[in-house]
Amino acid sequence: MKTSLERIKNDIDSLAKISVTQGPGCCRQTYTKEFAEARDYIVNSMKEIGLSVREDAVGNIIGRMEGKNPEAPVIMTGSHFDTVRTGGRFDGLAGVVTALEVARVMKAEGFVPNCPLEFVATAEEEGTRFSGGLFGSRAMCGQLYENELENSLDLDGISMAQAMREYGLDPEKVDEAILDPEKVRMFLELHIEQGPVLDAENIEIGIVDAIAGLRRWVITVKGRSDHSGSTPMTMRADTMLAAAKAIVKGTEKTAELADGTMVTCGSVEVKPGAMNVVANETIFKIDCRGKNMDSVGAVLETIRESLEESVKTNAGLSYEVNEILRIESVYTDEKVQDVFEEIAKEKGISCKRMLSGAGHDAMIMSAICDVAMLFVPSLNGRSHVPEEWTDYEDIQKGAEIMYEAICKLAV
Ligand SMILES: [Zn+2]
Repeated sequence: MKTSLERIKNDIDSLAKISVTQGPGCCRQTYTKEFAEARDYIVNSMKEIGLSVREDAVGNIIGRMEGKNPEAPVIMTGSHFDTVRTGGRFDGLAGVVTALEVARVMKAEGFVPNCPLEFVATAEEEGTRFSGGLFGSRAMCGQLYENELENSLDLDGISMAQAMREYGLDPEKVDEAILDPEKVRMFLELHIEQGPVLDAENIEIGIVDAIAGLRRWVITVKGRSDHSGSTPMTMRADTMLAAAKAIVKGTEKTAELADGTMVTCGSVEVKPGAMNVVANETIFKIDCRGKNMDSVGAVLETIRESLEESVKTNAGLSYEVNEILRIESVYTDEKVQDVFEEIAKEKGISCKRMLSGAGHDAMIMSAICDVAMLFVPSLNGRSHVPEEWTDYEDIQKGAEIMYEAICKLAV
């Protein structure tokens, strides 16, 4: 292998120490003192490698390697360098450190790409401080929400605009971060899986074929409260029961589809909320994800049909559906998937194609260019916790594939 396990480990451990928490995990929120310190580490590393470094208008760090054809659209690789509050040291960082190592090996090998390459560390992907999420990549794609900088507040009531000023950025200039789609060819991201599949199946690398789309429904069922002892089962308008049936039907539909579509109800509010009173109102929230948006739609329609059935057979019930979020799934570039797989096979690294259930910067970047992703295993699937773990050797395998792939793609 041309990449160095030592350097990868050193970069990850050094960056993990730049954290408000001590110990195995990492907490580094956007535009804080720790964030600035991590920025300096990344900027200095990029300069040492010999990249020309710029910080864009929202604090994304971009190190550029010129190509033989400087006008050709650029290939970008990287991930985010902010973390969640209770985060580990690998989420985001694995991709940033991989980008650094890929650039380092290219310089050492004297590789000169045909198109320019950019090695990227993005800001505020987690949305932990300001709730927005995927902020750095959305800024590059011109997808910031209206008045987002003023409306997004952290727990201390500091607006994003104010935090940016304190960090040394001008919130009036965020539009300068927008990239010209004509000038971006591809965004490649290595990330930890954050799920249990690779670890459980003992596979070293995941090649992401799609990033799941997502729809969220808030459903309110209305009925009637009655005494739990004196009202016969056949004479009730029980909203909790209608909700429960719908959730079960939706879940059964995912099993029938058997294509990786996932449905979750993790929030139920039952009113009035007493053991001896039939629920007169139940509000439940459905999160449905998958790569096939038709299947996601089918699961949601199954839930609606179940509610429809409840209402039809019980005049005391009514319901209302409110869709609060809809994000389409993203398919990654098939040619790059093949390149990743070829290289893995050559090097004897086990791999499988898989869905990314979580959203990533690459998902946003797909609005302006082709994207592809590599996953490295998460021990026991744990992530967003201090115990989050990925073996450094696995990150190196991913970095090696990323290096070879970019060498192939950039000629
Ligand atoms: Zn992440």
